[in-house]
Amino acid sequence: MRERDGAGGAGSVHGPYDIAVIGGGPGGYVAAIYAARQGAKVVLVEKDTPGGTCLNRGCIPTKALIRTTEVYKLMQEAGRYGLRVQGVEVDFKRAMARKDRVVNGLVKGVETLLAKHGVTVVHGFGRLVDGETVAVKAGEGEETLLKARHIILATGSEPVTLPIPGAASDAVIDSDQALELDELPEAMVIIGGGVIGMEFAFIFARLGVKVTVIEYLEQILPPVDEDVAQEVFRSARTAGIKIFTKARVIAIHQGEGGRAAVVFEDAATGEALPEVTADKVLMAVGRRPLLEGLGAVEIGVELDAEGRGIKVNDRMQTNVPNIYAIGDVTAKVMLAHAASTQGLVAVDNILGRDSLMDYSAVPNAIFTDPEIASVGVTEKEAAADDLNIRVGRFPFAANGKALALGNSRGFVKLIADADTGAIIGGSIVGPGATDLIGEITLAVQHRLTAQQVARTIHAHPTLPEAIFEAAWAAESGALHLAE
Ligand code: NAD
Repeated sequence: MRERDGAGGAGSVHGPYDIAVIGGGPGGYVAAIYAARQGAKVVLVEKDTPGGTCLNRGCIPTKALIRTTEVYKLMQEAGRYGLRVQGVEVDFKRAMARKDRVVNGLVKGVETLLAKHGVTVVHGFGRLVDGETVAVKAGEGEETLLKARHIILATGSEPVTLPIPGAASDAVIDSDQALELDELPEAMVIIGGGVIGMEFAFIFARLGVKVTVIEYLEQILPPVDEDVAQEVFRSARTAGIKIFTKARVIAIHQGEGGRAAVVFEDAATGEALPEVTADKVLMAVGRRPLLEGLGAVEIGVELDAEGRGIKVNDRMQTNVPNIYAIGDVTAKVMLAHAASTQGLVAVDNILGRDSLMDYSAVPNAIFTDPEIASVGVTEKEAAADDLNIRVGRFPFAANGKALALGNSRGFVKLIADADTGAIIGGSIVGPGATDLIGEITLAVQHRLTAQQVARTIHAHPTLPEAIFEAAWAAESGALHLAE
């Protein structure tokens, strides 16, 4: 076990700490820093490097690779911008090395932050012994016991594997392994057209891999509005990505030339569809809370109604009053920024400030091409709940900055309460969507009206003007659109 700050030898007992956090992802490490900087004595248990899935195997490495694909695409399209560029090639090993440098730099940053805030970091696998004891095991050594008045469980999630024949074969990889490939496969089948599936579909297709996506439901990216998903669907097709929807994968077997053959059928009729062969099959059919070995259930911590994640109330408290749970392990919202916010809420409550988690304005950011971002109520949720809404839409094709960028696909859509004018949701598909969503998030969180946004001066020429125009559209009509 590597230990810091005096956590001593094998079999030893340490503490009591005010808070022990198990899991150092964006939920756990943010909670640890936030508590420590308020004077709490905090220990953080992490079996790997801090930063969790997001930093080590998720959000950050994928974004580094997406940047490579963006630069490559721009160079391939340089002619559109009046430039002659020749001989541009993918150097996959160097792209992966750059991705690793970005990740390693950020991991070091998190380690420094934890140290500077006086958080004790204990490396090893954490297990609950009882409501105030965490046993930590590293390698073959004896367990170290940590005593704590409060415990925050933040162990995250792991990829789900479909229980189908061939799922364990060598060609089948999950998102962790997709980020560790030594070379680009010639062809890849991606099972699942959700967030992970579609982000990887664009990464690999843009790097020259023949990508096929097989999605069980009617639409890729099922939770987003259909018009939003359609933009990405069309763009995926242009990028050469083959997409099958309403299709169920039933088996994977060895096909011609040692490649994997993916067997699938029409999800509605059960009719067999022609097999697709590939060098790699990426399984991206969801993630599940990481509870194995944690000992939570064994000491009486209850799970949610589906038996998936740890049950918590809005204070992030489990049924055991001094044990809290945050992030993916609660199976509520599997997003890094939601986990961090849940961590702040848990710490506030532990330190005696009543604080409730509010899920009404959690932004979603999906890094496809074009990007998608949404917050609050979607149009389809509004319809399902019979809400009385006004929708303001504005296309990037009428935004000067988007046209100058040569990237004017997509639109902004604002959902306002028809009676009060308050903005209750919004979706963006198009250039800079994942950055632009910040403004709509602020509006939803603070119940700003479409009129207030429309009467806020937006710099010209910029992409946020598309939000300003959508606010006008929800009010009395966009200024730069003749409808
Ligand atoms: P997901 O739930 O977003 O998508 C899984 C997809 O697989 C769904 O569309 C589902 O219909 C499909 N599917 C399930 N079984 C299938 C089958 N047998 N055949 C074909 N398709 C099948 O899950 P994910 O993409 O694995 O992501 C996991 C979690 O991580 C999600 O909660 C996601 O929000 C989160 N995440 C978010 C981001 C982001 O916000 N940018 C990025 C990565 C992951």
